[in-house]
Amino acid sequence: MKTVYFDNNATTKVAEEVYEQMGPFFCELYGNPSSMHTFGGQVGRKIRDAREQVAGLLGCESGEVIFTSCGTESDNTAIRGTVDAVAGRRKIITTRVEHPAVLTVCRELENKGFTVVELGVDGQGRLDMAQLEEEVDDDTALVTIMYANNETGVVFDIERIAEMVTSREVVFHTDAVQAAGKIPLNLSKSNIDLLSLSGHKLHGPKGVGALYVRRGTRLSPFMLGGHQESGRRAGTENVPAIVGLGRACELAAKNIEEENKRVKYLRDKLEGALLEKCPGARVNGDKDNRLANTTNISFEYIEGEAILLMLDKYGICASSGSACTSGSLEPSHVLRAMGVPFTAAHGSIRFSLSRYNTEKEVDYTIEKMPGIVNKLRELSPFVGSHFTGPVSK
Ligand code: PLP
Repeated sequence: MKTVYFDNNATTKVAEEVYEQMGPFFCELYGNPSSMHTFGGQVGRKIRDAREQVAGLLGCESGEVIFTSCGTESDNTAIRGTVDAVAGRRKIITTRVEHPAVLTVCRELENKGFTVVELGVDGQGRLDMAQLEEEVDDDTALVTIMYANNETGVVFDIERIAEMVTSREVVFHTDAVQAAGKIPLNLSKSNIDLLSLSGHKLHGPKGVGALYVRRGTRLSPFMLGGHQESGRRAGTENVPAIVGLGRACELAAKNIEEENKRVKYLRDKLEGALLEKCPGARVNGDKDNRLANTTNISFEYIEGEAILLMLDKYGICASSGSACTSGSLEPSHVLRAMGVPFTAAHGSIRFSLSRYNTEKEVDYTIEKMPGIVNKLRELSPFVGSHFTGPVSK
């Protein structure tokens, strides 16, 4: 069996169509898009096309899209650029389950004197809207809340949140790195002011991202230097990656509904079978409001890392916690915020699927996983092979 890749929330395969489109921009069309000559000018036109393609996926104007180097840069720009532009206000509201690309920036700003409120979530990873409403006040510069969680796939009601926050004349940013390309967006009809996305999460290349900035939103630039991106993000453009991102967005926009249906079928089949065949398994996160491609399952009383190693032997790639925190044995901050018991948080595995997965791969994983769980349970000093549940709530 070749590699079975169920780690698409960490990164995705670049679509062949995207790769093909990028090719000429390395050795043939290598001009600088800012140059006056025709050779560079033709490259500038390709960036314009890519901006249209990204705007097509987001349902916004192309002038509202800034290219960046990644989702992290988009998040950093949105947060730092807003608090700088909205001088005088000193409060930032976010959640405890954000990606480090948001949380770390907010915590750094807190060290510099800003008041940062990190809203908690319930056991299923849901936000309390009333608590958010209470926190938004005249001192609030920014509310930044993710669209969909990278670890559990839980989707927040971002449109409702954006409407409430902006009605109080506070800027609203959402990290949509996991949502873009998986959830249909129409920003022209939304109250979102700023939205981050990343190329490598939607079958585009690594090293490119985009930030949507609603027309009229005040934002200080993060990167200073040349006049690229209309003075909003300095630095010579990563042309092949931008062209690739554009094509990836075009493909996502065209196929989003059909792919979601197919991917959801595969995810549900995998999840249902693992819950049935592996005692002590439970899903983490709100099953009714989740990305179609993600399932986060805890296998109680065994180590997630041990499961990953055994899956790896069979060529199956998954993740324990988020990609950015794997390598550390600390239970994920997202599962901790949800109050998932320690014994379950430690044994959590995220399977994240994509359009390239097949039913055969799902069946293969369903065949291998119960044996892995039973073997690790036998080795566990806590339970042994007699474990049949129940799982802690
Ligand atoms: N935000 C979320 C929700 C993510 O999942 C990630 C990456 O895992 C990022 C931000 C960072 O994106 P990038 O890897 O493009 O910097």
